[in-house]
Amino acid sequence: MTLAHVIGYPRIGADRELKRATEAYWQGDIDQQALEAIGRDLRLANWAAQREAGLDLVTVGDFAFYDQVLDVSVLLGAVPARFGAEEEVARGEVALDTAFRMARGRAPSGEPAAACEMTKYFDTNYHYLVPELRPGQRFRLASSRLFDQVDEARSAGHPVKVALTGPLTWLWLGKGRSDAGDDFDRLALLDGVLDVYVEVLQRLAGQGVEWVQLDETALVQDLPLAWRQAFERAYHRLQAAPVRLLLASCFGGLGDNLSLAVGLPVEGLHIDVVRAPAQLEAVLDRLLPHKVLSVGAIDGRNVWRADLALLRERLATARMRLGERLWIATSCSLLHVPVDLAAETTLDAELGSWLAFARQKLDETAALARLLDGRATAAERDRVEAASRALQSRREAPRLHRPEVAERMAGITAADIRRRSPFAERAVAQQRHLALPLFPTTTIGSFPQTAEIRADRRAFKAGELSCEAYEARMREEIARVVARQEALGIDMPVHGEPERNDMVEYFGEQLDGYAFTRFGWVQSYGTRCVKPPILFGDVVRPAAMTVRWSEYAQSLTARPMKGMLTGPVTLLQWSFVRDDQPRETTCRQIALALRDEVVDLEAAGIRAIQIDEPALREGLPLRRAEWQGYLDWAVECFRLAASGVRDETQIHTHMCYSEFNDIIESIAALDADVITIETSRSAMELLDAFQDFAYPNAIGPGVYDIHSPNIPEVAWMVALMEKAAERIPVERLWVNPDCGLKTRGWAEVEPALANMVEAARELRRRH
Ligand code: GLN
Ligand code: ZN
Repeated sequence: MTLAHVIGYPRIGADRELKRATEAYWQGDIDQQALEAIGRDLRLANWAAQREAGLDLVTVGDFAFYDQVLDVSVLLGAVPARFGAEEEVARGEVALDTAFRMARGRAPSGEPAAACEMTKYFDTNYHYLVPELRPGQRFRLASSRLFDQVDEARSAGHPVKVALTGPLTWLWLGKGRSDAGDDFDRLALLDGVLDVYVEVLQRLAGQGVEWVQLDETALVQDLPLAWRQAFERAYHRLQAAPVRLLLASCFGGLGDNLSLAVGLPVEGLHIDVVRAPAQLEAVLDRLLPHKVLSVGAIDGRNVWRADLALLRERLATARMRLGERLWIATSCSLLHVPVDLAAETTLDAELGSWLAFARQKLDETAALARLLDGRATAAERDRVEAASRALQSRREAPRLHRPEVAERMAGITAADIRRRSPFAERAVAQQRHLALPLFPTTTIGSFPQTAEIRADRRAFKAGELSCEAYEARMREEIARVVARQEALGIDMPVHGEPERNDMVEYFGEQLDGYAFTRFGWVQSYGTRCVKPPILFGDVVRPAAMTVRWSEYAQSLTARPMKGMLTGPVTLLQWSFVRDDQPRETTCRQIALALRDEVVDLEAAGIRAIQIDEPALREGLPLRRAEWQGYLDWAVECFRLAASGVRDETQIHTHMCYSEFNDIIESIAALDADVITIETSRSAMELLDAFQDFAYPNAIGPGVYDIHSPNIPEVAWMVALMEKAAERIPVERLWVNPDCGLKTRGWAEVEPALANMVEAARELRRRH
C-alpha cells in the first residue's frame, strides 16, 4: 500500500481565521486562552481535512502562530538576551508573548525590544525569523507546544507524523554574530543543537510517534564541505533516537548533495520531483533497500491541477521498484498555496477547473497513491478522468495561446533590447530636455495611501462609488500630491500612485492572461497574507494602463513628471505563473506589454519613466550554477520593456534592499539611466559594489529609511550623500528616499521631504 502524506498544510484557515484571531489578541480584544482555542480548532480542522481526503498520516508541527522557524528557535531555547526570557527558558516553557516579542518587538505582555530580523525563506515569498546565533550559545528544550500538539492529534484519533525544520537547516537559516559584530562558524553550535533535537525525538517517541520528518531544505543549495560533513555527523548522532526519520528536501534537486542525502542513516528520504523530476531515477538507483522514498509529485508551490493520469504513468516504475516503500506527497509544504478553491465562487468555471489549492491537493495526493496501488474507487477514477478532461481543455484553450503574441515573440530582434545610443550620449540628450540641477531630487513613486483613498477604493469596488466619481477622487489626490511636491521643490515629481492597490495587482487587473482570486490568500509573514494573481495565459495589454494618470499629473506641473510601472520580472515573481511554458517566455510576454506602455507614456509627453524591479534579486535560483541563466533573461526582459523609447526619455528603475555585490554586472546590464536603491540602512556601503564595478549610469542611493517614522535630519542626509560622492561622481547622483512612501503618513512625509530637498540644496552649494 502506497502511503500518502503532505509535507505541511497552511495554518491561516480558509478565511484567514488565524490572522484575525492573532491580531485581535495583540489588540487586547481576546485573551490568550481564546487565541489558543482558535489555534487548536484550526489544527483539528486541518488534520480532519487530511484524513477525510484519505491521507495515511496527518502532519503535526506545521502550525505556528507566527512562523515555524521561530517556533524551532523557541523549542531550542534560542531566545536572544534582550527579551529577558532566561527564566522561561530555564523552566522549559517560553511564553507565547515572548515569541511574539521576538517576531514583532512587542506583545500584550513583556517589555518591548528590537524584533529579530526577518527574511525570505529560500526562493519563496514566505518570510521567516532569522535565528540569532552567538559564539558559545547554549540550547535547551524550552517549549512543550509541539508535544501538546502531538497529544491533541493523537486524542483526536489521528495517525501522526511530526514535521520539524532539521538541525542543519535551522543553523543554515541562522545568522551568527559575535559581540564584535563579525560572522563566526555556526557549525560550532551544532552539538548543542543536536542535544536538544535528540531530547525532542526521544520525547516524541515516548508519545508514540513513529515518523518524524526533518526538513533539510539546505540540501538543495550549494553546501560548503564543512556543512556536508556536518550532515553526516548530525544524522549519525540522531540515528540513536527511537523514531524513524524522514529527511525532507524541497524546492529543488539534491544535485551534488544526492550521494550525501541518500547515504545518511535515516529511514526515509523525501524528494521534490516537481522542481527536479530527473532526480527520481538517480535516487531510485541509489536508495538502500530498507529505505522509504517519499516522492513529492503534487506541486506545493503552484496552483495548477495535477495531471494524475500522467503522474501514475511516470511513477509506475518507482512503484514497481519500491513496492510499499513508496510514499506519495506534495513537493513541499502547502503553506505556499491558497487554502481552498471551493471558496472561489466568482472564478470562471473553465479556469477554476484547471486549478487546485491546498485542500484539493490533499485529494490529489491521496488519489495518486491509490491509483498507483490499483485500488482507486470508481469515484476516484472518475476524478482522474475529470482532471484529464480539464487539463486537455487547458492545453487547447484559445485564451492561453494567442497567435498575435507568438508572432510578436518570434519577431523580437537584438535592436529591440538595446537603447539607441549608449548612456553617455543619452545623458546629454536627457539633460538638454530635462534641465535638472546637480543632485536632482525625486521619490520612489507612492505617496501615503490615506484612509480616504482606501475607503474610496473599497466603495468603488463595492459598486457604491461610480467609476467617474472614483476617478475624479483619484485625480484630486494626484493634484494634491503634485502641488505638495511643487511646494517642497522636488525636481522630478511623481503622481503618487493613489489609484493602485498593489503594484502587481494593479497591472495584472489590466492585462489579459491574468486572473484574480477572491480568497486566494497565502501567508507572507506573521499575520500578513498576500493574494498573488494567477498568470494563466498569453499576456496582452488591451489598452494603455497608466497613461491617463501620468498625463494628467504632467498637465499640472512644468517639472518633468516621472511615469511609474512595475517591471516584468517583478510582475512574474509575485504571481502564480503558468507551468506549461518556461518562466522566461511568460516574462518576455509581460515585457512586450510593458514596452507598449512605455512607448505610449513617451508619446503622451512623459519624459522619465520608472520601471520598478524590486523582485529581481529574489528571483535568483537556489543554485549558483543557475544564476547566470536566470539573470540573462531577466535583464533581457527589462531591456525589452525599456528600450522602445528615444534617447531623451529617461528610464529609471528601483530596487529595494538587496545585496548587489554578486549581481552588479547584471544590474549594470539593465542599462537604466537612473537606478534608485535602498541604502540608508547600510550607510552607503552598498555603493561599494557599484564603485568597484565602475558602474557607469546614474544612481539614487536612498538617503532615509522610509520604514521608520523618524524624520531624517538635513545634516544626516548630507553626510550620507557625501559618503556616496566619495564613491560615485556627483554628476551621476540623485537624492531620494529609500522606497515608496505609501505606508507613511503625511505628517512624516512632508517634513522628511522638506529636509531632503534642503539637503540637496546644501550639497549643490558644496559641489
Ligand atoms: N513605485 C513603488 C512605490 O513607490 C515601488 C515599491 C517597491 O519598491 N516595492 O510604492
Ligand atoms: Zn523599494
